[in-house]
Amino acid sequence: MGIEKVIIIGSGPAGHTASIYTARAGLSPLMFEGEMAGGVMPGGQLTTTTHIENFPGFPESISGFDLMDRMREQSIKNGTTIKTMTVDRVDLSERPFKVYCNNEVTSAHSIIIATGATAKKLNLPGEEALWQKGVSACAVCDGGLPVFRNKHLIIVGGGDSAVEEALYLTKFASKVTMLVRRNILRASRVMQDRLNKNDKIDILWNSVPLELYGEDSLTQVKIKNIKTEVESVMDISGLFYAIGHLPNSGFLNNQIELNNTKYIKTHPGSTKTSIEGVFACGDVQDSKYRQAVTSAGTGCMAAMDVEHFLITKS
Ligand SMILES: Cc1cc2nc3c(=O)[nH]c(=O)nc-3n(C[C@H](O)[C@H](O)[C@H](O)COP(=O)(O)OP(=O)(O)OC[C@H]3O[C@@H](n4cnc5c(N)ncnc54)[C@H](O)[C@@H]3O)c2cc1C
Repeated sequence: MGIEKVIIIGSGPAGHTASIYTARAGLSPLMFEGEMAGGVMPGGQLTTTTHIENFPGFPESISGFDLMDRMREQSIKNGTTIKTMTVDRVDLSERPFKVYCNNEVTSAHSIIIATGATAKKLNLPGEEALWQKGVSACAVCDGGLPVFRNKHLIIVGGGDSAVEEALYLTKFASKVTMLVRRNILRASRVMQDRLNKNDKIDILWNSVPLELYGEDSLTQVKIKNIKTEVESVMDISGLFYAIGHLPNSGFLNNQIELNNTKYIKTHPGSTKTSIEGVFACGDVQDSKYRQAVTSAGTGCMAAMDVEHFLITKS
């Protein structure tokens, strides 16, 4: 079998943007789009959400599923070959690189890793049925939707992201309650000061959600104070997890440099990784912005970096 010029692993906005650009550059990319890899369908995290209102070009909003379907169609139209397979492991120790799916091995001169990250949830009773019906893992993405306006909302978490997302929600919500597992916040002093100045936010310390209730949408949450063991039920219209993300970098088996939270390290201002010829884009290398449009942006960068790499190496 021949050697691919470029293999793209992952099929979210980063992977598809990289695929459209590399295909248009004549590199005939091969994409492994995953098969419920990281717990999500091909198309990535956006397939788990309903309305996307902040991706440019869709003033009426578009469903996450439709947006990713269109990106996939555009990839294929431009000449990308897509295989619905999850990459189990890679061998980056020599060139060409090797990519393994089940028992199949494919060789490539370059690789773009666009495997995203998975938002952590708590798998509470009621969570699956009410997912995107009041329950979300992205306040910045979903908090502005009409269903959350002037409502009482909950943020679960106590780190910087949780505080940032709580502050963001106060633009729309009537009240925001933070459920914090411990009796202190992990967030920085600056963030805590901003939080303390905002009278729309209150904090329930030592508290965790136990169960979610609602017929068509979330209406109540059972909360437990883990210190006093007291349980209570609160009326609520939205609950947002802000308890971190898991980057899908495990299959790399530490062959590429990762940071201490397992995100792939890229050179500043580029998508180059610690291994020449291997590039990373999207949420798997970005613990900060984590948006569809920023992922697409770095997908474009990865494609251009690959093109440059292949020209200079041939
Ligand atoms: C509930 C929710 C709502 C959101 N709403 C918005 C929004 O409104 N606007 C916005 O801009 N952003 C939103 N986001 C964030 C946005 O979804 C992400 O920033 C974006 O999808 C990241 O794109 P990505 O291409 O890096 O990775 P992902 O979208 O995570 O896609 C990665 C893909 O790679 C696949 N994969 C993983 N491992 C492998 C493997 N080993 N082999 C093959 N394939 C693999 C996965 O299955 C997945 O399909 C939301 C996120 C969530 C969770």
